[in-house]
Amino acid sequence: MAKETPPAAPVAATAVAPSWLGSEMATLAAAHKAGRLPHGLLMHEAPGAGGDWLAKWLASLVFCQNPAQAPCGKCQGCHRVATAQHPDLVVLQPIEESRQIRIEQIRELSAELALTAHQGSYKVAVITPADTLNRFAANALLKTLEEPPARTLLMLVVTQPSRLPATILSRCQRIRIRAPARQEAIAWLEASRGAEDWNAVLDTLGEAPMLAADVDAKAVVQVGQEVRRTLEEATTGGGDPVATAERWSRTELPLRLRCIENWLTERIRAHSGNDAFFTKVGAAPYLPRHDAVLNMGHLFELVDGVRELKSALDTPINRGLALESILRRFAPGRG
Ligand SMILES: [Zn+2]
Repeated sequence: MAKETPPAAPVAATAVAPSWLGSEMATLAAAHKAGRLPHGLLMHEAPGAGGDWLAKWLASLVFCQNPAQAPCGKCQGCHRVATAQHPDLVVLQPIEESRQIRIEQIRELSAELALTAHQGSYKVAVITPADTLNRFAANALLKTLEEPPARTLLMLVVTQPSRLPATILSRCQRIRIRAPARQEAIAWLEASRGAEDWNAVLDTLGEAPMLAADVDAKAVVQVGQEVRRTLEEATTGGGDPVATAERWSRTELPLRLRCIENWLTERIRAHSGNDAFFTKVGAAPYLPRHDAVLNMGHLFELVDGVRELKSALDTPINRGLALESILRRFAPGRG
């Protein structure tokens, strides 16, 4: 079985605040200062736009021992949040391999939240990504959201809120986190990670700066270029889908699927006539050249196929065969 990319750490420390989260941070800081933080917060983020970062920032704000400069980043409270060792902070993620947050985890969380805070202040929980809560876990969580213990802050980080029951959504205040413009993302990546070809990384991963900050930039660009080249070739009937699928299914498959999905969505956007996006990001070399081959319907079918395979990666499917079938559908005639 090919190695999986582990889920990104929910609280990866990044010293440089993302500039595009400024107004959300100001809103939350004001609510906290006024004692008006809700019990349930839904951090609805564009993929890789900073939901986890904002959740961690708010936890630091709540636990910081220097209220005047909170979060100061220097006190014990801030330090414990940064190192994920704060006794009153619980971060819930899918258990390894399962890709789901299970009911036992929610039961443990509810029991923990019912206890008095060690530091006599808030109890904070971050559930991320919350769209991996399975049905039973979501139902169990609803009970806690309906009758939250006092001074409890539950943050749910999601990219697809529609996967959560409406009953959960209605009990959370929603914070919308949009992806930054390309130049803003690049400026932040340079400030926090140093000089790399971030434009090429974002061409590969999509507008997901937080994701880009966690990867080996050069390796991603290389994989991205290879995937693009191969897909271009496939749309003209070139290449060898069997050999490609066999090789890709063994190395970096999740990243390659993300590249394929991004390649397809770029074309869908271009077909939709929304090409201002391309002018801005300078992705002109990837503009569709084979409109007659892949029309809108086929593009959407392919995106569905790729997403289906992504969500089935933890099941015992034959990845090579599934990928081969997708690659074949890029070719003229789509055999
Ligand atoms: Zn502090």
